Amino acid sequence: MTVLVTGGAGYIGSHMVWELLDAGEDVVVLDRLSTGFEWAVAPEAKLVVGDVGDIGLVSSIIRKHKVDAVIHFAGSIVVPESVADPLGYYENNTSKTRSLLEAVVRENVPHFIFSSTAAVYGGAGLEPVREDAPLKPESPYGVSKLMTEWMLRDTAAAHGLRYTALRYFNVSGADPRGRTGQSTPGATHLIKVACETATGKRPWMQVYGTDYPTPDGTCIRDYIHVSDLVAAHRLALARLRAGGDSLTANCGYSHGYSVLEVIDSVRRVHGADFDVRIAARRPGDAPAVIANSELARQELGWRPIYDDLDRIVADALNWEKYLQHTASDSPERRRRKRRLSLEATRPRKKNFQPNAV
Ligand code: UDP
Repeated sequence: MTVLVTGGAGYIGSHMVWELLDAGEDVVVLDRLSTGFEWAVAPEAKLVVGDVGDIGLVSSIIRKHKVDAVIHFAGSIVVPESVADPLGYYENNTSKTRSLLEAVVRENVPHFIFSSTAAVYGGAGLEPVREDAPLKPESPYGVSKLMTEWMLRDTAAAHGLRYTALRYFNVSGADPRGRTGQSTPGATHLIKVACETATGKRPWMQVYGTDYPTPDGTCIRDYIHVSDLVAAHRLALARLRAGGDSLTANCGYSHGYSVLEVIDSVRRVHGADFDVRIAARRPGDAPAVIANSELARQELGWRPIYDDLDRIVADALNWEKYLQHTASDSPERRRRKRRLSLEATRPRKKNFQPNAV
């Protein structure tokens, strides 16, 4: 049996591929490489370059590789871009997932894991938000993901598919072993921006607003290490394979940090100061968004092991330094280098351990 990872050449997807390979799974990646990178795909995974909306292609991959589970990351993720181009987001995130689901149902794939988002809640608050909180997405991005959740629910009810939708909070950090990380240029996420500034890629960065109703006036977010996030997916897969019901669950640590606390952490871990400027609020930012993650802990047996801001920042910084070190390499050269440097070092577990974290 093989796991199909869509978007497996992207940030979170490439971590998922390593996580699955480490657990002894066979993996096929479907990615059109619009924002992902061929070199980011672990060498032992098969990469198919193509579109998740291509029903014929997805069906043939499922048949050829005997896929029993799809983990679906492919999609567009930039909130302001979704405001400017809602139809593009409904096409990429919603319509194409509809096509993907059609192939999944046609080919009788029993398990589906979907990357959803805290953006389905809209402006939360200082209290951790539970899955049964009102759903009020404030951007086309959030709406596109919520519509997909609903599509999944209805498809599962009609066709016997079982799924897990994981609502991500602020995913950050990089693989602790340095095998992959966040590589897309023009990043907007706080930890990535701060690491780029610390390492000299940007001359300065901005804090968007210091007049929020929070203790230090800056926004609070629940930053979760990408490795803990992909571990939750691995546990979700094991649960579905063991017969578990469909589930929608938050993935966050249930506590948050302010923008200034994050920047302090980057200064501390990097060991040097960098230029930070106070700016106006960024439109659409909620004062605080924090997960209640009890459900994931109970249902998946999820036990995060990287719940430490400095650790998240250290891994993100290491990856940033690696990226800048290899900046002049061609993708092919970079891929070859990674393959060579990883080949000797990677142990491979024989058996899948459903409950190991
Ligand atoms: N932020 C900031 N400067 C930046 C990037 C982000 O002050 O260069 C703030 C942003 O306004 C928000 C928080 O950091 O309050 C987290 O933003 P990010 O884009 O990382 O994630 P979001 O929660 O918007 O998905």
